[in-house]
Amino acid sequence: MAELRFFYGTMGSGKSTMALLIHHNLILAGQRGLLVTRQERRDGAVASRLGVSRPAVELAPDDDIRQRCRSARSGGTPLQFLVCDEAQFYAVEQIEQLAELVDDEDLDVYAFGLLTDFRGRLFPATARLLELADHLEVVRSEARCWCGRPATHHARLVAGAQVRDGDTIVPGDLGPGDEVTYELRCRRHWRQPERR
Ligand SMILES: [Zn+2]
Repeated sequence: MAELRFFYGTMGSGKSTMALLIHHNLILAGQRGLLVTRQERRDGAVASRLGVSRPAVELAPDDDIRQRCRSARSGGTPLQFLVCDEAQFYAVEQIEQLAELVDDEDLDVYAFGLLTDFRGRLFPATARLLELADHLEVVRSEARCWCGRPATHHARLVAGAQVRDGDTIVPGDLGPGDEVTYELRCRRHWRQPERR
């Protein structure tokens, strides 16, 4: 029976590495599927911090994932799985479409994403995944705050200083950006960066 599985973790926790590995293993097992991501790069790819990268289907905000699957299977056998990276950036409707593909098309979906944004709030697509998924799993790879505690939060830095207000997604998040960067923090240092 197909399932909607959601793997969540912080930046640097190994989500993309795991997405690439699952995609690789299912292809080796003879299954047909798609690797999907949501970034605004023309050369859509899923890249691991360890240096492995694979071409991926680049999703636009108003793309219908069901349609993408139908065109990928036309003339051939139906797809059996989808591996979806950067799922926190998907539209909420696209998460609904993933659930529909699992239930109606018997497609296994492996979605990977961040839990919370720089404000410590759930991404809307993540919230929907938590509500709809058959199976939830935390991805941990000992990503740490500078103090050595496990990292649980993301600080947004603009010109090196932490900001707490702004849009959930800014241009730099989805492609080559300007001066916006992110840093992994424990909650204590996400709340009070100056605290030692
Ligand atoms: Zn800390």
